[in-house]
Amino acid sequence: MLLSLIFAGSSLARPTVTHARQETITVTANTVNVRMGPGLAYDTMAQLKKGDKITVITQKNSWYQVRLSSDKIGWVASWLLKNTEISSATNTEGTINTANVLAKENPADDSDTLGTLQQNATVTVVYEKTGWSQILFKKTVAWVKSAYITEKKTSDNTTENIQPTVDSSIKSLTLHDDNVKLRSSPSIGGHIKATLSKKSQLTYLATAGDWYRVQTKDGKTGYVANWTATPSTSNKPVTTNANDLAEATIVLDAGHGGNDSGALSQKKTYEKTFTLQIVKKVAAKLRQGGAHVVLTRKSDKYVGLSPRPALAKKVHADAFISIHLDSSPENNQASGTTTYYYGKSKDKPLANALNKQLDHLPLDNRGVEFGNFLVLRDNKQPAVLLELGYINDSNDYKHIHSSSYQTEIANDIYKGLTRYFK
Ligand SMILES: [Zn+2]
Repeated sequence: MLLSLIFAGSSLARPTVTHARQETITVTANTVNVRMGPGLAYDTMAQLKKGDKITVITQKNSWYQVRLSSDKIGWVASWLLKNTEISSATNTEGTINTANVLAKENPADDSDTLGTLQQNATVTVVYEKTGWSQILFKKTVAWVKSAYITEKKTSDNTTENIQPTVDSSIKSLTLHDDNVKLRSSPSIGGHIKATLSKKSQLTYLATAGDWYRVQTKDGKTGYVANWTATPSTSNKPVTTNANDLAEATIVLDAGHGGNDSGALSQKKTYEKTFTLQIVKKVAAKLRQGGAHVVLTRKSDKYVGLSPRPALAKKVHADAFISIHLDSSPENNQASGTTTYYYGKSKDKPLANALNKQLDHLPLDNRGVEFGNFLVLRDNKQPAVLLELGYINDSNDYKHIHSSSYQTEIANDIYKGLTRYFK
């Protein structure tokens, strides 16, 4: 049960014969929170400091389950451990080979017994020392004599069939650390074509699952893991600091798309075009701040309403922001921005935090209102819907299609989220 929970949904949770103990990594950020579960919503149980050593056990929702040097197990936002491409694929699976094996709190016979393991039970070994194996046990860890575990030999390295997509908001990538591997395929089993150094600037070509397809300055192409690189919309290097926004997963929802063009401007341009432009600017800004950003659509394609909140739930989003443009029955009848929420306790604090910043926009701020929209109503995560001006008002439209207005929106949302997550 525990195993199925841990491996579900993790594209990288492919056990290899590599031993966990060889994959200790060192924290390079100044501070990183360790949480009780894979998301910002879980309590902080410890804090890692620069130089601390940890071992990655598995991955879920882009969070790593890690083993601390204190033997405790917790979760860290994977994108903040930017010094390595090591993945969840470092633990070993095994089978209990003896009846009634005791699971101990510490690696010693006289330590407290936490439970009993039946013969043939499958276990995940996260660490080994002096004849004892630390295993995942009842949502925490326990120690078992290594002699009672038979390691499974797992065959590996069938490259997953991931279709690359292009995110047009990304122009370049900056590596966070030394010795990042450029691989021939989007998997840790991919052949190593080059080893790249910290602060390397790469040209972005495409995204394939958790990997970026890139080109180096000397013309080599290949894949680097997305947790080793920060995307940028310009060619300037990016620096990120660990803060609460950097730990957050944000879903950005560009309203409409494909056959559903949304509202129409007087120039017969579509709402769907501008919502996507705005979302890409916001995404770039938040990613520069270190956040994990997921888009409900990256191109002009149709996405139904229900998949949007479903995606937010799937990635355990800490905030869902839907971007729309308003329209009045007749042209030039109404103007300004409106911030909508559905749940008073779940959504309104987020709505208030963002709305406060929207005062910087050149359009009237019409305030925070209750809105019975499906993307809010069906959303399990904190969610807001922003109407960022009336597309069929000629003054509002001047701003809506301007780059400076869209950039100001990105800055405002960034500031609003920074305060919201404080
Ligand atoms: Zn709309």
